[in-house]
Amino acid sequence: MAPSPSGTPRIAVVGGGIGGLATAAFLDRAGLSCTVHEQAPAITEVGAGLVLAPNAVRLLRRIGAMDRLRGRAVPLDVGWEFRRWADGRVLSAENLAEACERLYGERTYAVHRADLVAAVAAAVPPGALRLGRRCTSVSVRGDGAELRFADGSVVGADVVIGADGVHSAVRAAVLGTEQQTPATYSGICAFRATVPAERAPDFARRPAQTLWIGPGHHLVHYPVSGRRAVNLVAFAPAGDYTVESWSATADVEEFLAEFAGWDPRLQDLVRHAGRPGRWALLDRAPLTRWSRGPVTLLGDAAHPMFPFFAQGAAQSIEDAAVLARCLADDPGDPAAALRRYERQRIARTTRLQEVSHARAHVNHLPDGPEQEARDAALAGADPLVANGWIYAHDAEADPAAV
Ligand SMILES: Cc1cc2nc3c(=O)[nH]c(=O)nc-3n(C[C@H](O)[C@H](O)[C@H](O)COP(=O)(O)OP(=O)(O)OC[C@H]3O[C@@H](n4cnc5c(N)ncnc54)[C@H](O)[C@@H]3O)c2cc1C
Repeated sequence: MAPSPSGTPRIAVVGGGIGGLATAAFLDRAGLSCTVHEQAPAITEVGAGLVLAPNAVRLLRRIGAMDRLRGRAVPLDVGWEFRRWADGRVLSAENLAEACERLYGERTYAVHRADLVAAVAAAVPPGALRLGRRCTSVSVRGDGAELRFADGSVVGADVVIGADGVHSAVRAAVLGTEQQTPATYSGICAFRATVPAERAPDFARRPAQTLWIGPGHHLVHYPVSGRRAVNLVAFAPAGDYTVESWSATADVEEFLAEFAGWDPRLQDLVRHAGRPGRWALLDRAPLTRWSRGPVTLLGDAAHPMFPFFAQGAAQSIEDAAVLARCLADDPGDPAAALRRYERQRIARTTRLQEVSHARAHVNHLPDGPEQEARDAALAGADPLVANGWIYAHDAEADPAAV
């Protein structure tokens, strides 16, 4: 494989989602260039929201993304406001307006995914992003790697970063097809929708992240897009539904039927969900390795997690910051840099995969003694402090902290 004329590694990123674009932006900030190969013909995002906690916000600020999100990202005054399914009684809530910045130096925000992607993409150098490039396979060749694309083209690189999401094509180059444990059925699916603010009831327009929890189900909502829309994401039994895709949809009647008998104010909100998206949550055990030679994984390709701690995108941004640092510190030995990146990141992302997994049971308890104990524990807890290990983390200052 011919070395790069400049002596810096030729870096190929597969996937231009939040993780891949953040990688290109952090590499640029560290003085390294890359090419991002994205399969889609244009950078677009589904109509869905994300919560951005301080651990992601402080990194996004360093690539200028928070400035670009001004007026679009909604600073939340209240977070993790748990409400009882039948009557909306508040079980616990975080006072983010007063405590979040004091404790962690940043607010928590709610954003539309399209706004976040645009803000991160603006930090990617012109020409680095190549669209309509579906990678079909990656093979390790000597010290480098070869990427093959659906259009028949072949590209060489000194480093390949698989940021190609939950159905990663790059993962096979790291694990070999025989070592990839298949995803298993979780029994849970997510409905998601955005509702124009003028159709949403007052309680859903507040700058609050609210979670209604009840038997077998829970529903989360918060405002996005400068409070012009309300994002809804709800979790329900999947039945025989197994499609794990951002583009699959459902009928609003199916969504409503899942919440029959819940507080009527909630049903008023769901009624405006239009044609909701539907996503089956498949279950994957944490990987024990992400890298092989010059190839590594990042974001959902490395550590897909249930969205119950709202940390999947945040972890892909943390990965990007740490990986860029490792490559910039050791440009002459990319394989060693990738091993260091993996060592620094894997314990934290595994812990988040595990805690996110455990929350499904807790959020979905049927009414009874276990639910009463949970509600009492919620009333006495302060999740803003209990989750300090997530929010206080600065991936650049202390990359190996868990
Ligand atoms: C219902 C739901 C709610 C969520 N809520 C939150 C939240 O509140 N906060 C949070 O932080 N996270 C949340 N997440 C998680 C978050 O959405 C993901 O963790 C995040 O999108 C992962 O980013 P990624 O870049 O790794 O992967 P993706 O966003 O999946 O991007 C992968 C990219 O790679 C491209 N690609 C795929 N295959 C190829 C190929 N072969 N060749 C070239 N390109 C390819 C895709 O087109 C895509 O652009 C949620 C997830 C779900 C399902």
